[in-house]
Amino acid sequence: MTLSPVVIVVAVLFVVIALAGLAFVRRANSTSGAPIAASPAPAPTTRDRIFFLRFEGSDDESYVGDLIARHGGTATDAEAIREMALDLVRAAPTATHVHAGPASDAPAGPGVARSGLPGGIVVGFRVVSTRALGTVSDDTDLKAIVAELRAIASFTGRDVQRAELVKATPDVEATAPPLVAVRVETRPGHQQCTYCLHSFPAHETRCPGCGARVGQ
Ligand SMILES: [Zn+2]
Repeated sequence: MTLSPVVIVVAVLFVVIALAGLAFVRRANSTSGAPIAASPAPAPTTRDRIFFLRFEGSDDESYVGDLIARHGGTATDAEAIREMALDLVRAAPTATHVHAGPASDAPAGPGVARSGLPGGIVVGFRVVSTRALGTVSDDTDLKAIVAELRAIASFTGRDVQRAELVKATPDVEATAPPLVAVRVETRPGHQQCTYCLHSFPAHETRCPGCGARVGQ
């Protein structure tokens, strides 16, 4: 059997086209097809948050001072970070001035808060996490800030990388947004004295501001 030149040319062309087609498919797989199936998850976006909460009055100042002594410092463990956040959730209802926002707001970190108010104690809390948080659009709404702290307390080890809880030094010149006064009516679990307008926990029966009997 002899093959005509035409048949040989067609056969060679067929092989060449088949090889070219195979090379094209492999190339396409390596550039666009394969990464979709086999690549690891993209690097998580870091979502850093910073909080400043100011407290005033001897009871609050000693409570918050103890809190900082107990859980202050830097933590990388999710459980320790959760304790920090929960401590702040418990203390937050009596905060007088606050700021919450992205950590980039305060390049000097949680140790310096922008406030010119005399006295009181300011706690700074910075969280480096991989999970996006809802933003607090109105810092004067303490309930919204507490909700954000609660969200951080629910973070797992995969969500959170590091947190710092420190006593912040108030400084009018600090490169951070100024602390804003909390609207009293947004304090969770609080009542306001009808005589002196002092705000205090709802379970108390005597106003710590003026001593008036309240609640009954
Ligand atoms: Zn009062």
